[in-house]
Amino acid sequence: MQQHIDSYDFKGKKAIVRVDFNVPLDENFNITDDTRIRAALPTLKKVLAEGGSLILMSHLGRPKGVTEKFSLKHIVAHVSECLGVPVQFAEDCQKADEQAAALKPGEVLMLENLRFYAEEEGKPRGLAEDATDEEKAAAKKAVKESQKEFVKKLASYADCYINDAFGTAHRAHASTALIAKYFPEDKMFGYLMEKEIKAIDNVLKNARRPFTAIIGGSKVSSKLAVLENLLGKVDNLIICGGMGYTFIKAEGGNIGNSLHEDDLIPQAKEIMEKAQELGVNVSLSVQTRVTQEFVNDTPEMVVPSHKIPDGWEGMDCGPASIENWARIILASKTILWNGPAGVFEFPNFATGTEKIAECVAKATEHGAYTLVGGGDSVAAVTKMGFADKVSYVSTGGGAMLEAIEGKTLPGIAAIQE
Ligand code: AMP
Repeated sequence: MQQHIDSYDFKGKKAIVRVDFNVPLDENFNITDDTRIRAALPTLKKVLAEGGSLILMSHLGRPKGVTEKFSLKHIVAHVSECLGVPVQFAEDCQKADEQAAALKPGEVLMLENLRFYAEEEGKPRGLAEDATDEEKAAAKKAVKESQKEFVKKLASYADCYINDAFGTAHRAHASTALIAKYFPEDKMFGYLMEKEIKAIDNVLKNARRPFTAIIGGSKVSSKLAVLENLLGKVDNLIICGGMGYTFIKAEGGNIGNSLHEDDLIPQAKEIMEKAQELGVNVSLSVQTRVTQEFVNDTPEMVVPSHKIPDGWEGMDCGPASIENWARIILASKTILWNGPAGVFEFPNFATGTEKIAECVAKATEHGAYTLVGGGDSVAAVTKMGFADKVSYVSTGGGAMLEAIEGKTLPGIAAIQE
């Protein structure tokens, strides 16, 4: 049965906590952005304050085995500083029995990178490129078999399990999902996970109307499932950014050299038809800022999005599009935003994304619930200084996207079931 962190008695208990400490490091192993560490602090401090001890487990990067560069030892000092207590380190996450057993209330032990072991992800490593299907199947079976022992060992260190790693909640890995079954009566979400789940529910289950989704970014292919799931839920669907041109082409528009995916035109048409059946208002860009070169400093023109001349490509939406979208956004009571409205990495073409951020912030001020999540839109609102002017900015790119697709995330299901 799922427990709640606020009512669980941590006194004298050892809590093994899956955190997402996959932070960026520079070439001298200094942390360049500690947001993910800070995001887990409320959970960790709660356990310590209640008289429990902590065993922290995380991955860092994508190592294919033990790799100095991806050692979590580089971040121990900073985690210790953030928590205000010393943090011990176990150099091998599978050989921490003694250190875990010796932990006293208020003490913290961090395990080495879980992904130094293939068992964490449960995927075979080191297979020859020309491996046969049988060899691949045998390797997969072997790693799945040894994964059981791997999980069991991690679970043996602790009395209870907390998952506070939303960023990996869409993975059915040893530490994010499989371990939960060893704590049938002692498993729970951390505060960060709770906030993320509540944010998703606020838009997908309890949206106040009108509900508007703003979906942008580069490719329709990566957002197809998102669009399909949202169609049954939203009142307005704003499709912006590079992915919009596939829809404009599907409507018979000329899009010049703009980014698009020809093979997805049938799906784009289907989405438009389904939207019409469901009474969803789909709003595409009506005006585009175009250039002849994909660079920041280059001559530009503003043209109708359906009449982009040959040799020119869409880089950002034009003022008329923003005007339409501002009207929709400001009248909404629930807003979900994923994906930029233009090539926002180029300062000259960040205007559309910035204006959308401004409108979403204004809607929040007027009482709308606003969630920004999934990859680049988070980078955009943070870079533009709007992160604290919306209701919630998700910390999990891929996990948030899969949640918006309507998928059950294994890390969430393992605690709830
Ligand atoms: P995604 O990861 O799918 O959310 O896409 C984000 C990327 O889409 C960013 O790198 C943007 O530069 C890119 N993008 C947005 N609009 C355009 C556009 N009109 N042409 C090319 N790339 C775009």
